[in-house]
Amino acid sequence: MSYNVNEKGFYGKFGGAYIPEMLFPNVEELRQNYLQIMQEPEFQEELQGLLRDYVGRPTPLYFAKRLSEKYNTKIYLKREDLNHTGAHKINNTVGQVLLAKRLGKTRIIAETGAGQHGVATATVCALMGLECIVYMGAIDIERQAPNVARMKMLGAKVVAATSGSKTLKDATNEAIRDWISNPLDTYYIIGSVVGPHPYPDMVARFQAIISEEIKWQLQEKEGRQNPDYVVACVGGGSNAAGAFYHYLDVPEVKLVAVEAAGLGIDSGESAATSVLGKIGVIHGSRTLLMQTEDGQVTEPYSISAGLDYPGVGPLHAHLYDSKRAIFESVTDDEALQAVLELTRLEGIIPALESAHALAAIHRIGAKPDDIVVLNLSGRGDKDLTTYLNRFDLNGK
Ligand SMILES: *Cc1c(COP(=O)(O)O)cnc(C)c1O
Repeated sequence: MSYNVNEKGFYGKFGGAYIPEMLFPNVEELRQNYLQIMQEPEFQEELQGLLRDYVGRPTPLYFAKRLSEKYNTKIYLKREDLNHTGAHKINNTVGQVLLAKRLGKTRIIAETGAGQHGVATATVCALMGLECIVYMGAIDIERQAPNVARMKMLGAKVVAATSGSKTLKDATNEAIRDWISNPLDTYYIIGSVVGPHPYPDMVARFQAIISEEIKWQLQEKEGRQNPDYVVACVGGGSNAAGAFYHYLDVPEVKLVAVEAAGLGIDSGESAATSVLGKIGVIHGSRTLLMQTEDGQVTEPYSISAGLDYPGVGPLHAHLYDSKRAIFESVTDDEALQAVLELTRLEGIIPALESAHALAAIHRIGAKPDDIVVLNLSGRGDKDLTTYLNRFDLNGK
């Protein structure tokens, strides 16, 4: 069984590039060039330099002593929350912006839902002096005002998508329309391991730095490169892809992917794509997606905006289908409880997304001597309003 993408862009029966003909030249240009550019020594030197001095890598692999005591197993947190801009997303945007420059592009477009990918893109565009346009659903613009302000501070133009449900899916349609109209000077940065080939593979490779570091960090701390479990939350799947990447072909490392159950798997208000989804095409890729009987995409729901996506990347659909990864789902309430628990046990306020991974720890059956690496994808600053509304903090 292979877990890497094949030449046609497929992971098992998932993936590919189902795109309108007018998009073909752009995607083909990228497909023909990405691997070669990523392998160039000068490219790697510039990328590694920025990851070190600008993003702040390597991120620590932290042994969470009190959390470990509570769950009676050895838990390490991979601290992606300590990256510049507060999450793993910048690993990918730094990489893609450098690639866009190598392709001679001067104008960067992106779409964003919660605004995290938009902020990471606007940040790197400011750093490189590139024009940046971020498409965002009109409703999300209202819901995510602090991130909209950040993007504007950074010099990005935030364009409202006013069609359909006025959320991420509509913003994606606007971005694709823009790319078709501006094929020569424009580069489209996708923020997760989704979209047509080669995006899922390219984004996974940029995020693979996470498991590359885990290997040598665990070797230093425990005298072995392989943990027993790697646990990560899954929206589109990029932080999990990065944390799993160098362990995909190591069967003794169990991979745990945690999706958002929202109000509950069977509540109709959920984002647990792999369990609830059926095979279909979304954003240029054949994958599992939540849909009605007649194939309409279902609106997903999760308290966490970063996990609120109706599809999942084709690599993860394949990991689910082949049973290489264990899939868990966690409700809003379980995630919130995990937020408070990590905050009080370790003094780390996690992002709501990452808290979904934390809430699954007690379910995986880890033994006292097992080593569990949990990818802490982001910090909770962006979620403070939610936390203040949901927790009774008076006197506690
Ligand atoms: C965006 C985001 C996610 C979900 O995206 P993936 O592509 O599944 O990683 C998870 N955690 C944080 C902190 C995010 O910002």
